[in-house]
Amino acid sequence: MGLMPDSYRQMEPEELRLSILERKEALGKRLIVLGHHYQRQDVIDFADFRGDSLGLSRLAAAQEDCEFIVFCGVRFMAESAEILRREHQKVQHPDPKSGCPLADMADIASVQRAWDLVAGTGEDRKVIPVTYMNSGSDLKAFCGRREGAVCTSSNAGAAFKWAQAKGEKIFFFPDENLGRNTARQVGIPREEILLWDPDVSPLDPEIEKRVQEATLILWKGFCHVHTDFRPDHIRRIREEDPGAKIVVHPECSEEVVAEADAVGSTEYICRYVEQAPSGSSVYVGTEINLVDRLAVEHPDKKIYEVFRSLCPNMFRINPAKLLWILDEIGEVHRVYVDSETKELAKVALENMLSFS
Ligand code: SF4
Repeated sequence: MGLMPDSYRQMEPEELRLSILERKEALGKRLIVLGHHYQRQDVIDFADFRGDSLGLSRLAAAQEDCEFIVFCGVRFMAESAEILRREHQKVQHPDPKSGCPLADMADIASVQRAWDLVAGTGEDRKVIPVTYMNSGSDLKAFCGRREGAVCTSSNAGAAFKWAQAKGEKIFFFPDENLGRNTARQVGIPREEILLWDPDVSPLDPEIEKRVQEATLILWKGFCHVHTDFRPDHIRRIREEDPGAKIVVHPECSEEVVAEADAVGSTEYICRYVEQAPSGSSVYVGTEINLVDRLAVEHPDKKIYEVFRSLCPNMFRINPAKLLWILDEIGEVHRVYVDSETKELAKVALENMLSFS
């Protein structure tokens, strides 16, 4: 793994800005810079497209002239672009250390161990694995190998219905909160949910009975950015600004979602704010860089955060790292996913197309 020379860190913001614009102009249509909604503004300023991880990966793969894809986001996002890219395209990630703690909570060894335990109960043929987009390529491939699917926060409800029609149980990774919020949406009762804690579940003497009784097995993972939001934050907003609307992301806890006016993906949140009447107040429960940007882009509305919660992993990407990647285009921090993993992950992604 290459190390960025110190000279990039020492550059002034304006010098960085002009240099990035110059490199982008020189590469023209051969380059696409993708910026996830949670990226800081001084990175988003250089994004050709901004959006969510799946949307951005598909957009990049649709650009025939593009040879180089630079994904400003966390690692699983760059891997998704690598899975979906065209043959001649190369994907680079400005900081390979920028991972997603939620995705990392479901490492493939623990998932395989859990699956084997579920299989040991004789129930495995009835279980359909579904993984959230926020997961490693190996977990996506795991689901593809077992006729499962990938889902996003927009289509998790459809994914659960699809999986229920195909099998009898769903094993969902890695976000417990998205799983619980989706279960409520599709009517899976709380008592039919088995929470799979990889640290303790294998020791549970009741495991066989509990797997048999479950409709939904939920991996015990969470996003620390979205679990920062609490019901008392919402209650305080209601007291202080009773006319305001509150929209939150489904990675928030069930309790927070229950107290909000609306819940949905980042794309849904952007539309919600766009469609809010001029002059209205909207409080947003998601990563602070998106909230701040929405506030700037909608000066006719009052857009506030439910609580300031920043994703430090997203924040690792900065203009200096982006410039270095552009200077080493096609070379440093290339993202690789082996061909077998890629093909199986594509199966899980294609299965998603059948319900979205
Ligand atoms: S906001 Fe949460 S889910 Fe998104 S990259 Fe950060 S830790 Fe992962």
